[in-house]
Amino acid sequence: MTPPRSVLPLRLAALLLVGLPSAALAWAGAQHIQINRAAGRNAPDDMAAFRAFSRPMVLPGIYPDLWKAADLDEGARHYFEPDRLAPDADIFALPRDQAQALAAMGFRAEITGVAPWTITDLLAKMTDAMRTNDWLWAARCGAAMSHYVADLHMPLHCTRNFNGQETWQHGIHTRLESDMTKAFFQPDMITPAPAVYVEDPFRAVMEWTAHSASLVPDILKADVIAKRSAGGRVDTESYYRKLWELTEDAVVSQIQAAVTHLSSLWYTAWVDAGKPPIPEPFEELPTASVHSGVGIDPLAEGGPLGTLPRQKKAYDAIIWSVMGVVALIVILSSLHRGRQSRRASGK
Ligand SMILES: [Zn+2]
Repeated sequence: MTPPRSVLPLRLAALLLVGLPSAALAWAGAQHIQINRAAGRNAPDDMAAFRAFSRPMVLPGIYPDLWKAADLDEGARHYFEPDRLAPDADIFALPRDQAQALAAMGFRAEITGVAPWTITDLLAKMTDAMRTNDWLWAARCGAAMSHYVADLHMPLHCTRNFNGQETWQHGIHTRLESDMTKAFFQPDMITPAPAVYVEDPFRAVMEWTAHSASLVPDILKADVIAKRSAGGRVDTESYYRKLWELTEDAVVSQIQAAVTHLSSLWYTAWVDAGKPPIPEPFEELPTASVHSGVGIDPLAEGGPLGTLPRQKKAYDAIIWSVMGVVALIVILSSLHRGRQSRRASGK
């Protein structure tokens, strides 16, 4: 069925952002969508109805990046940087409560990031929602959770040197996860392992984080080698070909692991909820943030745009004016079609 006309421009806006290379520091929107689609298909046989149920949860996997513009607390939910802590710090021993963990680490959320706690919080919400038959909320929390799970599998979301800024490799974040991955990664490279019940989600999330962080040195080294092989440039095809050659295994295995782990968390929520019957899928999920209720439109009234840097504001203005024009074309053409069909039916 066609969605109600009023949501079309929003949907278009979201789809347009999928194609923007560096709208946010995160896997390109395309990868979030591929991960969610594959994770839905990876639901175990006893949860087979979730394969259809999760279909409208695919696109909302990109919404958390779009909430950043209107919710200043959103950014910190997308990363966790264990290398901010003392070298002998044990991340597995950190409190499972976010506020207590931040107090124990001695950092504000935006310094270290809080992705692991965001994931376990949304997992608990998804589980409760399934248990109480609130399937719309379950779908929304599960879709939002997918984003943070995918982000944590991107190694540069697990280090304080997230953009190579400490090693004179500025821009490596977007070059790797967005530009390179969009150019070379194909969804058929994903062959996830079967989804399993996760006994201790907090511990599992920290294990994924630790593994992701362990890949950082090789990724930074690959950037140095690729740049050298491309005559000192990072904007050439030969640079990207070399970078892909050196990081393909890591990137593919991380995206694949994100699929396995996401489907495992969805399965875990359902098992812990008592395996309730899964309903028919919703047609579409609301775009508003599950954390703060903000929308995905950064120009919405009341958003804290005044606090954003001028360059970001200009960039947003360009994006949103392009979207406005596209939305206008869609509305005008549908009005035109409506008039034509009325004329054809003699009304
Ligand atoms: Zn993100």
